[in-house]
Amino acid sequence: MPSTHARFSPSAANRRLHCPPSLTLEEQFQDEESAYAAEGTAGHAMAEHLIKKYLKQRTRRPVSDYYSDELLEAVDEYVSFVQGEIEEARRVCKDPVFTVEQRVDASEYVEGCFGTADMVIVTDNYIHIIDLKLGRGVQVFADHNEQLMIYGLGVLSKAELLYDPKVVRLTIFQPRLNHCSTWEIDPAELKQWGEEVLRPTGAMALMGAGEFAAGSWCRFCKARNQCRARAEEFLKLAQMEFRKPALLDDEEIAEVLRRSDELAKWAADVYAFAQDEAIIHGKQWPGYKLVEGRSVRKYSSEDEVVAAAQANGYTDIFKKSLIGIGDMERLMGKAEFQRILGPYVYKPQGKLTLVPKSDNRQEVTKDTASAEFQEV
Ligand code: SF4
Repeated sequence: MPSTHARFSPSAANRRLHCPPSLTLEEQFQDEESAYAAEGTAGHAMAEHLIKKYLKQRTRRPVSDYYSDELLEAVDEYVSFVQGEIEEARRVCKDPVFTVEQRVDASEYVEGCFGTADMVIVTDNYIHIIDLKLGRGVQVFADHNEQLMIYGLGVLSKAELLYDPKVVRLTIFQPRLNHCSTWEIDPAELKQWGEEVLRPTGAMALMGAGEFAAGSWCRFCKARNQCRARAEEFLKLAQMEFRKPALLDDEEIAEVLRRSDELAKWAADVYAFAQDEAIIHGKQWPGYKLVEGRSVRKYSSEDEVVAAAQANGYTDIFKKSLIGIGDMERLMGKAEFQRILGPYVYKPQGKLTLVPKSDNRQEVTKDTASAEFQEV
């Protein structure tokens, strides 16, 4: 029976390949369970069901408490995209192969390296691997995405028994971020990466060898809050060297902004971790204690409050308010909401915030900002 636990999981490949000893370090920690992950699993199960149904494969509709309208809409968007790709494959190939939630094995490169690809399409000319990500966090790009490259290697070794694919196409679909990224690689180039990068670095990771290296890949590392290499990296950030003049120049202030943003996020993570340990496990941190935060008064029972107030002659104790836009839209349905209330809904200008250029929101220049303020 194949093992169900991948020591070198493709979903952690970005971290393993940048910081090989993270694998053995993380093995000291328990698995983290999060509601986000459980919601993602439920979303994937629904996507699998809908695609199998479209392919006329046996399937049963999954049941989960996580199925909100919003999640099902996100899943639908992904399923529509996949359906388009299925039809395209049928158009260009007489006998394409479609597999949903396919176990993909790349253990010929790294022992214990296997995972599940959400959607695999194999035609006589190309392989297409599509990955659904339901997070609302950061955009992920397909270009040189190690997780998908590993899936590509696993699928390639099977597909080449059947066809002679000329292209491996990798897609990441993030419906909640309105983001879809596709990248293509030549099969020979992919195998070369497998031999020259994945195989040797994977072997190091399994042995706990190599250097710790902190970076964006630390985000989901189980050791992230206690990792010395990561702490040292952040503390290095704080040691800025300034030039002589009394006032900081623009470049230096921009550098402080960049570093302080990363430092603040790291400090918040460590604080949240330490607080959870204290609250959940009774951990004592030197120089710190648990206290109760400020709280507000609450009614113990609304029914009893109403009865007591009315019994004493107070009747003007309720207030009526309009339901929110989201609830109204759910009540009327999107089209009706737009028809009836569209003219009465507007979006006020958001509070201006200074963010890095890499942020994908549209830039507000000084002229447009002051013009908009004057209009208000
Ligand atoms: S937190 Fe970052 S540097 Fe530390 S082990 Fe994990 S991936 Fe490596």
